[in-house]
Amino acid sequence: MSRLLKRHQRAEYIAARAKQTDEHQRCKAPMCTRLTRAAAGDGVGKHHCKMHEQRLMRHGSVTKDSYRAPDLHRYAKRTLEWLQANPSHPAAQEAKAKLDRTLREAGHFESQANVPYMSPAEKARMAWMRIRIKQLEPELVIAKLMAVEAMLKVDPPLSGEAEQYRLWQLGKVVHRMAGGYHRRAVMPGQRHWKFFQSSGLVLKHLGEQAAKVTGTISAG
Ligand SMILES: [Zn+2]
Repeated sequence: MSRLLKRHQRAEYIAARAKQTDEHQRCKAPMCTRLTRAAAGDGVGKHHCKMHEQRLMRHGSVTKDSYRAPDLHRYAKRTLEWLQANPSHPAAQEAKAKLDRTLREAGHFESQANVPYMSPAEKARMAWMRIRIKQLEPELVIAKLMAVEAMLKVDPPLSGEAEQYRLWQLGKVVHRMAGGYHRRAVMPGQRHWKFFQSSGLVLKHLGEQAAKVTGTISAG
């Protein structure tokens, strides 16, 4: 009897351990039953499957898509009108000063050919530099960033990924404003658009820098 009991306990223990390991190896995204990249032998990611890891890097959320440009545009328009009507408001002045500093610190132009070999921080710097070269109206840049903050209030992500989603969405707006560049390939007659890579880490850098600009108005 006691031997049987022991055997039973041992079987339960093994089953519990197996279940624990199993859950540990499953993607953390809601409703996802796939193995994590590490468990599937398809990468080093220990939290998500390949699909959700890519979603997280692209949007800053495993479940939520990025904000759509037309939705952001509506809020940007409203903020732009406010900034133009209140140019000497302390919050507007401070945001413009922070943006100006970010753009000045972006440094100088380097060959686009080097971009693929740059670190995410360097790529982020190049994006701000392109915005400076384009001489976009500061009020417009600030308004576009503030549109993200407004959208976060009306259409927020899950609380667990709120900060990452915010940075990524701010980063995407900066990245979009910086735009792509055109270059001719070596082969005659071939041409293609080459964009700054909007990898997750570049978006994170851009988002962190953009958050310093929007933070002054959000708090005000
Ligand atoms: Zn998944």
